[in-house]
Amino acid sequence: MKLIIHGGFFSESTANHATNVAKQQALREIVMQSYEFLKTSSALKTVVYAVALLEDNQLFNAGIGSQIQGDGKIRMSAAIMDGETQKMSGVVNIEEVKNPVHVAEVLMQYDDRVLGGSGATNFARLQGFEIFSTEIPQRRLEYEAKLKAGGMGTVGCVALDKDGKLAVATSTGGKGFEIPGRISDSATVAGNYANQYCGVSLTGVGEDIVSNATAAKIVTRVTDGCSLEEAFARTFSELEPYDGFAGAIAIDNKGNIFHQESHPYLVFASFDGLVLDVYKI
Ligand code: ASP
Repeated sequence: MKLIIHGGFFSESTANHATNVAKQQALREIVMQSYEFLKTSSALKTVVYAVALLEDNQLFNAGIGSQIQGDGKIRMSAAIMDGETQKMSGVVNIEEVKNPVHVAEVLMQYDDRVLGGSGATNFARLQGFEIFSTEIPQRRLEYEAKLKAGGMGTVGCVALDKDGKLAVATSTGGKGFEIPGRISDSATVAGNYANQYCGVSLTGVGEDIVSNATAAKIVTRVTDGCSLEEAFARTFSELEPYDGFAGAIAIDNKGNIFHQESHPYLVFASFDGLVLDVYKI
């Protein structure tokens, strides 16, 4: 069993040392708690569990604590992918639900794979998700001061379960101040992708990640025989011509855990039952 989670990039400009220490502590607790869950659950259930915990923590830009868009509203996106069945489901620009990843989980049972905007929100209401404001006062203050909130704090999780199955989930509040209707990479195959060989979750500038098709490319390269190191090195080198900003976490079906980032510092934590690796401040 292997587990890796990320909480986006830490921001040198707006986040202070105390926030980064708190993020480090939160990731440590969530990866350990989720690993306990993985002992008796599937990879798919575990990635949903871990990402919901990250969404509930207002330190991260997903669920509670999401960034505010250009028109003053919060719109969130989340997706999950089951590596075994290669089924993905996602919601894009959903409003006023506590856990977008839970809506993506319910959608997994339907034929339609990704829902957007009011369609995603209506679907959530029909499924019994109550109206819930994920806005926190700090984000409103930042919005009013026209400040970007504490950096890119999208969250994600990749898990390998005891049956050797992989799954991935990713959730975001977007990049902040975007034009309403802008689509994040998080609920696309560029930001969140898995098959039987590998699972990958991204954070960074969605436009760069979509242009690079990052998660799908890394997974395809591993499927075709590359090691995680090679697949990451090639894919990240393809971000360089346009100075793409991205960070990714991954696990392959042999149990190798990997992460790489184009710019420091990716906020991540991994655990394999023995070794706990948490990003350094
Ligand atoms: N990838 C996200 C987006 O562009 C932002 C992030 O990773 O924080 O919407």
